[in-house]
Amino acid sequence: MTSETSVMAPVLAEDRYRSQIAWDDAKWVTHCVNCSPGNCPFRAYIKDGRVLREEQSGTLPPIEPGVPDMNPMGCQKGAAWSRSLDEPTRIPYPMRRKGTRGSGDWERISWDDALTQIADTMIDTIQNSGPEAIVQAGTAGEGGLTAGFLFEKLMNRIGGTTTDTNGDIGDFSVGTYLTFGQAASACSFDDWFHSDLLLIWHRNPVYTAIPHYHYIAEARYRGADVVTIAPDYSPSAMHADYYTGVRPGADAALALSMARVVIDEGLMDETFVRSQTDLPLLVRSDTGRFLRGADVEEGGRADQFYVWSQPDGAIAPASREILEPNTDAALEGAFTATIAGGARVEVRPVFDLLRRRLAAYAPEEASAISGVHADTIRLLARKVAAGRTAVLLGFNSAKYYNGDLMERAMCLVLALTGNWGKKGTGIGVAVTGMFDGAFLFPMKPVPGREVFRGILGMRANVIKGMKDNDPGLTDAAAAIQLQQGGAGNGHAAVPAFLWYHHTAMAERWAHDGWSDESMRKPMTEYIDEAVDKGWWRGLTRPLQSHRPRVMFEIGSNWARRMRGGRGAYAPILDGLELLVCMDWRVSGSALQADILLPAAAPYEKPGFAQPSPQTLNLTFSDACVPPAGEARPEWEVFVDLARKIEERAKARGFTEYTDGRGTKHRLDDLGAYFTANGAFETTERVLEEMVLDTVESGTLPPGTTIDTFREQGHLRFTDWGITPFAAVQAADLRADETHAPLRHHVERGLPYPTLTRRAQFYVDHPWFIDAGEALPVHKENPPMGGDYPLVLTSGHSRWSIHSMNQSDRAMLGTHRGEPVVLLNVADAAARGIADGASVRVHNDVASFVVHAKVSSGVRPGQVISYNGWEPYQYADWKHAAEVEPGMVKWLHFAGGEGHLRYWTTQWQPAPIDRAFRVELEPAAL
Ligand code: SF4
Repeated sequence: MTSETSVMAPVLAEDRYRSQIAWDDAKWVTHCVNCSPGNCPFRAYIKDGRVLREEQSGTLPPIEPGVPDMNPMGCQKGAAWSRSLDEPTRIPYPMRRKGTRGSGDWERISWDDALTQIADTMIDTIQNSGPEAIVQAGTAGEGGLTAGFLFEKLMNRIGGTTTDTNGDIGDFSVGTYLTFGQAASACSFDDWFHSDLLLIWHRNPVYTAIPHYHYIAEARYRGADVVTIAPDYSPSAMHADYYTGVRPGADAALALSMARVVIDEGLMDETFVRSQTDLPLLVRSDTGRFLRGADVEEGGRADQFYVWSQPDGAIAPASREILEPNTDAALEGAFTATIAGGARVEVRPVFDLLRRRLAAYAPEEASAISGVHADTIRLLARKVAAGRTAVLLGFNSAKYYNGDLMERAMCLVLALTGNWGKKGTGIGVAVTGMFDGAFLFPMKPVPGREVFRGILGMRANVIKGMKDNDPGLTDAAAAIQLQQGGAGNGHAAVPAFLWYHHTAMAERWAHDGWSDESMRKPMTEYIDEAVDKGWWRGLTRPLQSHRPRVMFEIGSNWARRMRGGRGAYAPILDGLELLVCMDWRVSGSALQADILLPAAAPYEKPGFAQPSPQTLNLTFSDACVPPAGEARPEWEVFVDLARKIEERAKARGFTEYTDGRGTKHRLDDLGAYFTANGAFETTERVLEEMVLDTVESGTLPPGTTIDTFREQGHLRFTDWGITPFAAVQAADLRADETHAPLRHHVERGLPYPTLTRRAQFYVDHPWFIDAGEALPVHKENPPMGGDYPLVLTSGHSRWSIHSMNQSDRAMLGTHRGEPVVLLNVADAAARGIADGASVRVHNDVASFVVHAKVSSGVRPGQVISYNGWEPYQYADWKHAAEVEPGMVKWLHFAGGEGHLRYWTTQWQPAPIDRAFRVELEPAAL
């Protein structure tokens, strides 16, 4: 080596290194998928027409002095997203099924061929079966706000059916809904930092809140206690101060016992209880119903409730306009009220009934039920009462048969200790909100701010009229009522009815012993009663007479997520003339499709992630590279499909029809309608409009355009806007503070959007009274699936967002790379199962074969199957959902009173897939 080369060598090496990481361009991106809440801002680096890699941005501004900022948001799936762009599972071009369904035998077709076949089959279906028989599976937002969500505009126009997403996937927290009149409010993640006690309960943030877990660690560093309550020693337990192992499904017993300790030990925040809750309201002993205005006087209101005024020794109306202190109201005792006609009835405050109920939950008794030591119950209760406590609830309890009771009991503990409506407190799971331009986009007949102002003005006038008629009505309650009023007239459908009418689920729901013992009659009779009474008017589509014939899966994956697996939904699948799947990768549903349409992936099209109160940012994702192969952005395909339907309808002379509800539809203007006369041809144009309208509604800073996002990547919302999801936050959105919801109720006494206008623990619907669930109570999991010794639980996996990324090579390389079930060491030994062995998981429903992962962290008697695996990753494509009975709780068909009414993503029966019975045995794989 000469002296010259030895001097040059380091320079060359550095150049070589630099060339590996050099890029031509860098753009803002995020991942427009339902990683809830996602919105992590990334920079993507582009070279030679390829995305080389991505990197967390670290550009989120500090919000509240003293509170850590959100940087850097991101997770390992997002950090490897660029690698998924050229996965072998990408769909390269439109394809048509040639062989039997699921055979993988495809032929390549042109976009025009694909859209022509889809349009013709849709028109055939409208003519032969009615438009209701065209079904779109609800999406959780995969693909972003211009994908499956906007297909609903087309479905609405033609009279089709779109299933409610939360009803499909079970992300509806019934217990929080029953308590607060909504299950859509939640604090911003940085608000966790203010807590003194964080109860991680039915959640596993180490897996599911990777970008935000640091707030738990930082709160702990500040001095907070962290408690993980779960059946297993979950991945989130090892970082907690306390781990509380609870028997699966026994959480309500634990929480009710904590509530009893709070009361017995004089730890109750009585001021909070009296003003915020229904606990002072009077209940008739003879009927179990609230004492109402209609009882007290002829023509009285059915939604006027009463307290017992101790100074007057008489009933006194509870205000409907403000949450009063109720300092003179009796909380305990039996009293006599005179009702209309002069009869005298015994009445008791809800609190009095609650104390009687809690008599069964002394810590020692609750310990026997829950498996939590009595001293631990007392310790937890005292800790909750001692400071600012937040329950970090996920979507796990929502998927338990009696998850509603568990959540109501958790809310009760927080109510008794004054733990919501203040920073560092509360419970909740957010939905969305703030991006008003996106939510109102489908309503715009023409572009421009004038029409948007018109829509806002019209809405404001309607709400003003509602409030003039009912001075206690809050903006949130009015927004909800508006939604409820229109819910049964559009394309939305409660999926439980679709399953009831068209799948094998109804047989399972009728299975002796799989529901709960409080049912006095067959499930079908409850459902028939609910329908006959009009509680679900307009939402039970498609009826038996409109068997699904065409189905769209756009950002959904029924083959993976449908409870009960193929066994349950085969009747739908087998009856379809056309299953259309649009995706960027071959999902389980894609493998079943008749027509496969390639969608542009994240980084290949512009988009916004679905915003959430938990991060409060609107986050942009730019088009970095052209779509792979013949892939196209979803919106642009919808535009072409709308035009193709119009063209084919005109050619066939079939342009007008009436749907099963008597609503008239026309197809001869579908293209013009869908694009607002050609104004919205491209995704870019749609996004531009959404941003400008959102500025108009006041939730983005003045002057913001899509170019602002191209430069900055993300912006914090400046206000809540008009959607009910945002309005129910019931708090001011402050630029320099963390967000704690429900403050308006606590600080200003604004009523809650419930029947009683208070946080409601007593549900006096006749079905709830019959079931013994007027108040929260512990009930055992029904033996769903049969008489087997193990219960199967689940949760989101560490490596996937639902089924996305679960088959990526990058993610598969970070773990065993295949589906597993986890079971306890003792259970494995008793069955002769070694770690890594293949096992057959079975019950009365079905079976599947999978590898076992033996772990002492799993509770004896528990088996864990984390979700998201595609069916094709299992032997014979029989996956974990095959053994799910697919139950829904009969009580959730109740309606017709107060807040027991459907609105988007809210009150409805949702599927249960936790803690059903199974057995395991060694098997060959
Ligand atoms: Fe964030 Fe979701 Fe992307 Fe992960 S996948 S980095 S959570 S946006």
